Amino acid sequence: MFGRARVPVSNPMSATEKINLLDFNRNALEAFFVSNGEKPFHARQLMQWVHQRGVTDFSLMTDMSKSLREFLSANCCIERPRMLAHQRASDGTRKWLLSVDDSDNAIECVLIPEKSRMTLCISSQLGCTLNCSFCATAKQGFNRNLSTAEIIAQLHFAHHSLLAEGYAQGVTNVVMMGMGEPLLNFDAVIAAVDMMCDDYGYALSKRRVTISTAGVVPAMEKLEQSTDVALAVSLHAPNDRLRNQLVPINRKYPIRELLRACHGYIDGYKSRKITFEYVMLDGVNDSLEHARQLVELIRDIPCKLNLIPFNPYEHAIYRCSEQEAIDRFRDYTASKGIVTVTRRARGDDIDAACGQLVGAFHDRSRRSEKYQLSLKEIKGIRLAN
Ligand code: SAH
Repeated sequence: MFGRARVPVSNPMSATEKINLLDFNRNALEAFFVSNGEKPFHARQLMQWVHQRGVTDFSLMTDMSKSLREFLSANCCIERPRMLAHQRASDGTRKWLLSVDDSDNAIECVLIPEKSRMTLCISSQLGCTLNCSFCATAKQGFNRNLSTAEIIAQLHFAHHSLLAEGYAQGVTNVVMMGMGEPLLNFDAVIAAVDMMCDDYGYALSKRRVTISTAGVVPAMEKLEQSTDVALAVSLHAPNDRLRNQLVPINRKYPIRELLRACHGYIDGYKSRKITFEYVMLDGVNDSLEHARQLVELIRDIPCKLNLIPFNPYEHAIYRCSEQEAIDRFRDYTASKGIVTVTRRARGDDIDAACGQLVGAFHDRSRRSEKYQLSLKEIKGIRLAN
């Protein structure tokens, strides 16, 4: 992609051929400038303009020479998805619908404001291949991976919207818990995470960026070598038979292997711990016996347990556990020394809560047509090991 010599300005590329520099982390940008006969430090200048000042027009990047700016304008672009809609929930949560293709495919990202932080929940794929039986995204099927530009653009969007509205600090935390399985779009996600944590990008501390996975074990092993961000694991069941039903990737990578990969990610790192996510499904995975089994599984792993009340959606085959069951579960795991937090549903009046992000896209997997699973079948095996 990067020719040795600069592409001459007198022969500018058409808009569709232009290189989207939003796809490049700092290393890739440096390689781009060097391969075009420029100094690598322009990568840092460009990142500051784009990510920190929100400037996407090269002609305004005044600490670069005029000829370099002209070269960039002629051959490159900073292209973000187009905003289709912006909603605000009664609790302050906001949701953006962003168009990612020229077609009507769209992704959603959600901003959750709290007293001391602004957490952005972003998507990594258009749809999802994993087919978790309780997740609304799963019902929509799958279209494709998002590019690095499309992933980081969600942060660019939310962060600069906040700054433009007068918020002093913009987005403070990112969780990759929107649509998709981040570890099945590994390279694009890692490049985007690089930009989130880069001092010339968003300068987020690695503890404030969380990758959430349903348990793609080989990618978890690779992750340990590639980055140092926080890792959340969607466990949801304390035994393989139940987890096979709720999170089908468990059939490929069963709980024992998953927990070994969790150890692999944190062992030898004092500051790392795993956040286990556990969606509370009425009569399915929420009994005291499940809590006991769960404690046995995770008690020797430095971790935190997040209980997520199930967020309903149209045609869901599950219901959320009773508050009493959630409290009993939490009291038990906490009494066994596991730090347990019940997540508060946020933004549910605009369908912005966990598992409610569905975007709008053409399903290439045709799963949305085929999907049907019997709740009775799942309940029947809920306690089996
Ligand atoms: N694929 C990744 C990230 C996406 S989902 C993963 O599985 O971790 C983010 C979290 O929301 C996961 O823990 C997921 O299981 C949970 N979730 C999905 N649907 C939900 C629903 N309807 N209610 C509550 N949590 C849900």
